[in-house]
Amino acid sequence: MVLDYIITSGALALELLISFFLPFRCVRCGKEDVQLCMECADELIFTAPECLYCGGTAHHGKTHPYCKQRAMHFDFFISCFRYHAVLKYIFREYKYHGERVLIRVIRQLLQEYAQYNPFLSFELFRNKNILLIPVPMHRNKLRERGYSSSQSVAEILQKILQQTEYCRASVLHNIVVKVKQTKAQAQVKKFQRFTQQLGVFALQDGAQKVVSKLNVDLVVIVDDVVSTGATAQSLLETLKKGLHWPSHTQFVLFSLARS
Ligand SMILES: [Zn+2]
Ligand SMILES: [Zn+2]
Repeated sequence: MVLDYIITSGALALELLISFFLPFRCVRCGKEDVQLCMECADELIFTAPECLYCGGTAHHGKTHPYCKQRAMHFDFFISCFRYHAVLKYIFREYKYHGERVLIRVIRQLLQEYAQYNPFLSFELFRNKNILLIPVPMHRNKLRERGYSSSQSVAEILQKILQQTEYCRASVLHNIVVKVKQTKAQAQVKKFQRFTQQLGVFALQDGAQKVVSKLNVDLVVIVDDVVSTGATAQSLLETLKKGLHWPSHTQFVLFSLARS
């Protein structure tokens, strides 16, 4: 059943309802009545559109033709903010604030981004059937942490896209799983980063059936923080090698922050 795979946003709606009753305090400085105050939000730096593969400036984050030489590539890369100061602090301190507070902050950040950056009116999204796939976490890490921030980013992004009423977006969270635990990218030397990604993800049974029914125009792989892009690249290769997609399907990497 296709519906089995699509998150009804009930869980998120419940989170938001519960979080409504939590006291608001700026996650950074503690100022009352706001989740992220104006002064702290002012420290956020929007990321200029860039090519995922060479880091050079790229219109709408479109991968340069000469960077598409690898057999499997993302067509676009959208990253909202630089991963520094205030964002680093929020992600490092999430344990003390809890999931609900982090969801509220992510929602505020994405709304802020959508307001100042017209990526939502960008032709790429218009009249498209969009499939959002959060980068899955290994089940041990998920158990340890209790929730996936990539999934929260995907669900909030879906809501923002749905509000525009010119595209359809669904979140698929379990057609692919992470089967190999990897070290945090920061702890791995650069030349090891790509080799440690081999065999990281595996498709679930029935994934092709689900994908075939959706007639997807745009696949958006969603991550919270992207550093080298090696993890997302590995997920992309698993999805492209293991599944048949319509020939017009384009692949986008979307991340809340770029480190
Ligand atoms: Zn503040
Ligand atoms: Zn490039």
